[in-house]
Amino acid sequence: MRVITFFKRSCASTNIFGRKNFSNVGFVGLGNMGGHMARNLLKKGYKLTVYDVNEVAVKSLVKAGAQSAENSGKIAVDAEVVVSMLPSNQHVLDCYTGENGILSSVNKNTLLIDSSTIDPSVSQTVAKQAEQSGALFLDSPVSGGVNAASAGTLTFMVGGVKSNFERAKPILEAMGSRIVYCGDVGMGQAAKLCNNMLLGISMIGTAETFNLGKKLGLDPQVLADIINSSSGRCWSSELYNPVPGILPNVPSSNGYKGGFGTSLMAKDLGLAQAAATRMEAPIPLGALAHQIYRTLIANGQFDKDFSVVYEFLKGHR
Ligand code: NAD
Repeated sequence: MRVITFFKRSCASTNIFGRKNFSNVGFVGLGNMGGHMARNLLKKGYKLTVYDVNEVAVKSLVKAGAQSAENSGKIAVDAEVVVSMLPSNQHVLDCYTGENGILSSVNKNTLLIDSSTIDPSVSQTVAKQAEQSGALFLDSPVSGGVNAASAGTLTFMVGGVKSNFERAKPILEAMGSRIVYCGDVGMGQAAKLCNNMLLGISMIGTAETFNLGKKLGLDPQVLADIINSSSGRCWSSELYNPVPGILPNVPSSNGYKGGFGTSLMAKDLGLAQAAATRMEAPIPLGALAHQIYRTLIANGQFDKDFSVVYEFLKGHR
């Protein structure tokens, strides 16, 4: 097997950027995001072996041209690079360090790229264990939702050894349009959690501002024009306004369907809260934002875009 693996490695092709590509890529986690990302790798000509606990997701990728493996350990046997896109901490630990996990059979120098959004400390734990197996680990969470995953325009925030990052770049470029090096292992996750904490807070700030303006009698469109050219300007107001009808093609103008779900926002704020507690960093607004999105979920808004916080604050009067 090792001889075959060596032969396959020596056959690695060169991509349009002039960098070495990988001939055998493994992909674990074919959900809303991972399914599209894996398809983009297939479209770019990568030979792909996939695994997911959900057989329907696996069948759909096999139909598109991938091979399937029995478990994540089997994925690692022949792969030069493995990408994972899993829901959260425990899934990543199970998939890498569990029985029949990736690290049970990984080859030396195999590149492991985890794009799940998880706690930076979990990325660091998996990276240490990967190192003991001779493998190279990068954390590489993404921003951009399902549409960006489908269009291949995700942003990857990458943590790990710089030379491993350079090696991973061609494969990340096959799934995304912006690949950012953030520092040591865990720093991709740190960047993602910090950005999403600010986004969660700024969306609530925008929603309560527009709610107050409306109650005072201001036309929301006039308020948007003022804010978007004044010091209150932010992404949530300018490009993702939570008030229905101000912007076309955003979830608020479509019944808060699609977009970035309140459950995912609450998950990321929970990760930020855990990290902040560990670091003894005060995050009063992040903690409050976490509880507000949790309350939204408890009120049945778990499948709505996170900008639905505007409707929640507006109430029924
Ligand atoms: P998802 O739940 O749709 O997909 C996860 C997939 O992992 C599922 O198909 C599930 O069956 C599979 N899985 C779970 N445990 C497994 C295991 N042990 N082995 C193999 N497969 C397993 O989630 P998603 O929306 O694709 O999100 C994936 C990650 O990306 C999450 O960490 C999420 O926070 C992050 N993310 C999501 C979005 C988004 O808009 N959906 C945006 C940015 C980041």
